Amino acid sequence: TSTGSITVLGLGPMGRAMVTAFRNRGIEVTVWNRSPDKAEAMAEFGATTAATVAEALDANEVAVLSLTDYAAMYDVLNQAANHLGRKVIVNLSSDSPERARAGAAWVRSHGAEFLSGGVMSAGDNLDHPASYLFYSGPREVFDAHAGLLRPLGPQEYLGVDDGLAQVFYQGLLTVFHPWLLAFDQATAMIAQSGHDIAQFLPYALRSNAAFPYFMEAIAARNRTGGHAELAGLRMMHAGARHIVDASAEVGVDAALSRTAEAFWHNAIDASARLGRPVSTYELMRTPGT
Ligand code: NDP
Repeated sequence: TSTGSITVLGLGPMGRAMVTAFRNRGIEVTVWNRSPDKAEAMAEFGATTAATVAEALDANEVAVLSLTDYAAMYDVLNQAANHLGRKVIVNLSSDSPERARAGAAWVRSHGAEFLSGGVMSAGDNLDHPASYLFYSGPREVFDAHAGLLRPLGPQEYLGVDDGLAQVFYQGLLTVFHPWLLAFDQATAMIAQSGHDIAQFLPYALRSNAAFPYFMEAIAARNRTGGHAELAGLRMMHAGARHIVDASAEVGVDAALSRTAEAFWHNAIDASARLGRPVSTYELMRTPGT
C-alpha cells in the first residue's frame, strides 16, 4: 500500500502541476527530470531532487511518469531498469493504446507493477472543476494506490485493459482537436467578415447546450451500426458547402470544412454504389466502403 510519498519523473507543465498538487496535500515528492534545471526549480515547492533516475526510483514505492510519450519512458527507465523491482509505475503520458499496452508489458517484465492513465485536464490546470484522470490496468493496483494519487484530481478507473485509459483519452481528444480548429475557423470568419468575435461568443456558448443531445443520439445510433438516411446525408453535404463558401468568401482557410464536405460526399457516393444509405460512421469504420 502507498505511503504519503511519491516520485514524479518528467517535469513539463503537467509534471510540475502534479508536483504542486501533491505538495499542496502534504505529500513528500521526489523529482527527476532530463533537464536538471526543471527539477531544481521544484525545490521551491518543497520537492526533493534526485540526481539520477535510480535515486528517484529508490526514494519511493510509486513513481508517476509525465513525459511526452511512451518512447520517453524507455529512455528514462532504461537508465535504471534494475531499480524497477517491486515498484509501481504509473504512466500518465499520452500515447496510442498499443504503445501503452507494450509499455505495460515492458515495465512488468522488469518486476514492477504498472498503471496507465490519461489526464483529462483543462490545460495543465489540475484544479479546474472539469479536470479528472482516466486509469486502466489491474484493479488491485489501482485500488492500492488510488488514495496516494487522489491529489491529482477525480479518478475514473476504466478497466483491466492497459490500453483503455488511452483509448478513452485519445477518443476525447479526437473530438477536442477538430473542435479547437473549428473554433479558430469560425472566429476567423467572423473577424474577416468585419464583425466582432465578442458578439459571436454568447451564441457559440449557447450552441454548447445542444451538444449533449447530439452525443446521446449519435452514440445510440452508432452502437447499433450507425444508420443513415439519404435525405440527411444530402442536407449535410449541402450545408458543408455553405460553410466552405462562407469561409472562402472572406479568405479564411476552409480545409477543415472541406474534409467534412468530403465525408458527406463519400457517404452519398457509397450509398449510390451499394444501393442503401451508408453513414459516415460506417465509412470511418470501413474506409474504402
Ligand atoms: P511535454 O509533453 O512536453 O513533456 C515534457 C516532459 O517530457 C519533460 O519533462 C521532458 O524532459 C520529458 N521528455 C520528453 N522526451 C524525453 C526523453 N526522450 N527522455 C527523457 N525525458 C523526456 O509536456 P507536458 O508536461 O505538457 O505533458 C506531459 C504529458 O501529459 C504528455 O503526454 C501530454 O500529452 C499530457 N498532457 C498534457 C496536458 C497539458 O496541458 N500540458 C494536458 C493533458 C495531458 P525535458 O524537460 O528534459 O525536455
